[in-house]
Amino acid sequence: MAQKSVQHIGDDQLVYGLPKRMVGVVTATEKSHSNKKLSSSEKVVFWTVHPKPKACDACKGMEGIKFEEEPERPHPNCKCEIKKHEYKPGTRTIVGTVSGSKNVSFAGLGYVDIELSNIGVALLPGVRITSNLAGIQERHIPLGSSQVFDFNILTDTHVKWDIWFEVFAENTTIKYIISYKM
Ligand SMILES: [Zn+2]
Repeated sequence: MAQKSVQHIGDDQLVYGLPKRMVGVVTATEKSHSNKKLSSSEKVVFWTVHPKPKACDACKGMEGIKFEEEPERPHPNCKCEIKKHEYKPGTRTIVGTVSGSKNVSFAGLGYVDIELSNIGVALLPGVRITSNLAGIQERHIPLGSSQVFDFNILTDTHVKWDIWFEVFAENTTIKYIISYKM
């Protein structure tokens, strides 16, 4: 009869590659430098709160907000996840093509610049850009040329932009270059 061996996991043994005593300690040590502002680099730091499904109203009220400082937990024993994010401010671009219609979404500040080029085949197709935040613009774009459309709103925080392109000509491709700040 083979003897069944029971393995004891002691403090020095590995659990998923880490010594057992280190598992779960990583988040606690991260906390110590949370209040440090990054001054030399241009990175911008913000925090978001991610409440559990059964979290209280105070915690749920913090969902979806970008905090410039690490937020205080509303009550002891709060188990919500608080995440730190960083990004480099600057201009971002999205490049693509559309035939027919297409939606492009991104998060950015209040100024969006869209350059459209008609790369064929219609000579003067109508093109409509519908934005979720700054109205609709519609123009004709001659074959081989390009035009710039500006969409602006007043905001000092990041917002979600939905840009809906429509090309009113068969078999015609429009190239777009969306530039926005974040
Ligand atoms: Zn909470």
